[in-house]
Amino acid sequence: MESILAIAVSGLSKNYGSLEALSEVSFSVRRGEIFAYLGPNGAGKTTTIRILSGLLKRDAGEVSICGADVASDPVFVKERIGVVPDESNLYPELTCRRNLEYMGELYGLPRARRKSQAEELLSFFDLNGRATTPFGALSKGLKRRLTIAAALMHDPEVVFLDEPTSGLDVPSARALRELIRTINHQGATVFLTTHNLHEAEALSQRVLILIKGRVATLGTPGEIRQRVQNLNLLSVTFSAGIEAAPLLEACPAVLQASPQNGAWRLEVTEAQAALEQLLAFAGGEGVRISEINTITASLEDAFMSFLKEGEAKTEATP
Ligand code: ATP
Repeated sequence: MESILAIAVSGLSKNYGSLEALSEVSFSVRRGEIFAYLGPNGAGKTTTIRILSGLLKRDAGEVSICGADVASDPVFVKERIGVVPDESNLYPELTCRRNLEYMGELYGLPRARRKSQAEELLSFFDLNGRATTPFGALSKGLKRRLTIAAALMHDPEVVFLDEPTSGLDVPSARALRELIRTINHQGATVFLTTHNLHEAEALSQRVLILIKGRVATLGTPGEIRQRVQNLNLLSVTFSAGIEAAPLLEACPAVLQASPQNGAWRLEVTEAQAALEQLLAFAGGEGVRISEINTITASLEDAFMSFLKEGEAKTEATP
């Protein structure tokens, strides 16, 4: 019977020498899902992708793709996955079309299939006009598109995208997100790493936050935001400019102040106490509070909150 899980990971651990890169990581990705795998630099995201795609050995745990163990069934797994690394693996001197056809050769596609698939992908990625351009001469955004196209030559069921929009300008990133949605609508499961939390929230059904090789939280973006509802956030606008965050942070109930769209975004211990202190502060400064609202935590707020918690835990560990 076909597994309903595209990816199943249980108790995955990996060390580099004495560095614990992954520690008992468990999660699963359903077929047809876009799953965002988030974490700060060095959290272990690339290490996970390398293990899931069979490029790196795990030290412990179970890892399967479409029901097959990655280590004991590598050919089955390689046929079903497409990996888009953050650095392109294509040949700069070969044309776009030739790069795709060559990738098809590596996957053992018959010649006619290689040719038709390359044409189909050039057209899907709007690269028809660049078919004879060497890969190396493309702009960064188009390079990224062709790199994704190359990973789709063998119609994989699961696509790994490692920071697909990093370094792209706004229109290119937006166009690429649309393409990722379309690839997913056409049936591919997408495993995405990104540092752009708005992108993760916009694209994915579920999100995992990895911190120092451990799962900090896993759920829908909405569920994750709910988990930090104890995070009290206020947006405050004063009738005249208050220049510096430390002035506001001098209120005992204000943990952190940052400017946001002409207002101050405040992380506070408790809204009522903060309000009283802010009124007293405004009086002292001779200004009024012209607007004050509570803010719902964004995925980025939640990420920062889990990050702080993860760092505090590590510091507390002797
Ligand atoms: P980034 O967002 O910066 O790409 P990441 O979440 O992908 O980070 P990894 O590249 O998986 O993180 O690295 C996890 C940890 O393992 C880091 O501390 C990194 O320095 C370390 N590491 C990664 N590869 C190796 C290696 N080949 N040898 C030793 N340490 C490594």
